[in-house]
Amino acid sequence: MFHLSRRILITTSVTAFMMVACAPAKPSGSETIVPEPEATAEVSANPEIQLLADIAFNGSYGYDITRSLTTEIGPRLAGTEQEARARLWARDKFKELGFTGIRTEPFPIKGWTRGLETAQITKPYPQALVITALGGSVAAPKDGITAPVAYFENYEALTASPMGSLEGKIAYISGLMKKHRDGAGYGPANQKRRNGATEAAKRGALAVLIRSVGTDSHRFPHTGQMGYAKDTKKIPIAAMSAPDADQLDRIFNMGQDVEIKLHLDTRDLGELTSGNVMAEIRGSEKPDEIILIGAHLDSWDMGTGAVDDGAGVGIVMGAAKVLMESGLKPKRTIRVVLFGAEEIGLIGAHAYVAAHKETLGQHVLATESDFGAGRIYGLQAGRSEANKAAIAAMAPEFAYLGIEPKDGVTNGGPDIIPLDAQGVPTVRLNQDGTDYFDLHHTPDDTFDKIDPKAMQQNVAAYATLIWLASESESNFRDK
Ligand code: ZN
Ligand code: ZN
Repeated sequence: MFHLSRRILITTSVTAFMMVACAPAKPSGSETIVPEPEATAEVSANPEIQLLADIAFNGSYGYDITRSLTTEIGPRLAGTEQEARARLWARDKFKELGFTGIRTEPFPIKGWTRGLETAQITKPYPQALVITALGGSVAAPKDGITAPVAYFENYEALTASPMGSLEGKIAYISGLMKKHRDGAGYGPANQKRRNGATEAAKRGALAVLIRSVGTDSHRFPHTGQMGYAKDTKKIPIAAMSAPDADQLDRIFNMGQDVEIKLHLDTRDLGELTSGNVMAEIRGSEKPDEIILIGAHLDSWDMGTGAVDDGAGVGIVMGAAKVLMESGLKPKRTIRVVLFGAEEIGLIGAHAYVAAHKETLGQHVLATESDFGAGRIYGLQAGRSEANKAAIAAMAPEFAYLGIEPKDGVTNGGPDIIPLDAQGVPTVRLNQDGTDYFDLHHTPDDTFDKIDPKAMQQNVAAYATLIWLASESESNFRDK
């Protein structure tokens, strides 16, 4: 074990190392991306946590890992060759960073891919719209669909419309998504993406267009997984960018009838392989007890999956590496799990539960980083009373990072939901996601959007969490 004071680190070779390690990620002429140590250093009264913070804030593990993944692999759609390469990347990266117990657990998924996707307003004001297919959507007929459009101001308006009222029509569902720090606007806005095709098909529609589930005003459509109900006809569904949706809204507000021509080529690729990759820092006293921190390795196909979820991969791998480098020996095992096929329905998360059924009782605490790269502001416990008490006891240790305890109950993050359902205690570090849905599932989800300083804070927070959780006397369970 060693201890380096913040002052010494700042004035020695670490800064020089970062200059080399981090440059150049942006084109020349843009602002520097080198994470300069901050003048107002985060200081913890707990020397062990201070040690972790020193390493996190004077290094750039999270940022470097995310850059490596998004640059060397790029987009990582579930089941693709690129997702397979990402698994090899993860295995090699874990090895390079000194993890043990590295393994890949493959599982089958249903493959899907997009093809040519175009839409034009043909009446009354002919012009092109920027659209993209939602994940899992069926294709439109080869010659496309040209049909009058029925306008719905939101998903609720669609579900309130009479059965049979959309025969021969394309349904268009608008509806703005509200920006919230905690992403609270996503659930309500996402209903049209998940259920829009089913509800429109029930009413006889030929196809569906939605205003993208997003909070930006850029001309990028947001993709994301959609779903079909079992007994309903499958119709194609695509999302359009916010400015294109604004354009359509204006035309409808003028009282005009609108006709659209839609081409949407998608392909069902049958059974493909995805997989989870995991590695550990073995516990020194209670190696069978597991603290799980996860992120998802797959991404959508249009961007390079930087904020969703390359950042999470960097944060959890980086945090465990910081703990390893500190020389502190966690009593419990720290397991880092990079889930496959999250985007298409938490397939990797369910596969993990199935593969680890026998040891779920030994999973002491689980969490996932999957909400971008914004700074963490809150700490939230899972449902049990013991969990709440244990997290409340450790909460003051996060104050040095500006992190406060938050009310409410977390499910631990998307890939932790199936573990939560099996009674595994969960925790969440709440990230500021105010701008997350500007980029989410768009071609604009790229590495340049990530703030290296916020990544350092995230890595410090996760390193703090896994250290405290491994040392806690609590097992986070009520019984
Ligand atoms: Zn995600
Ligand atoms: Zn996503």
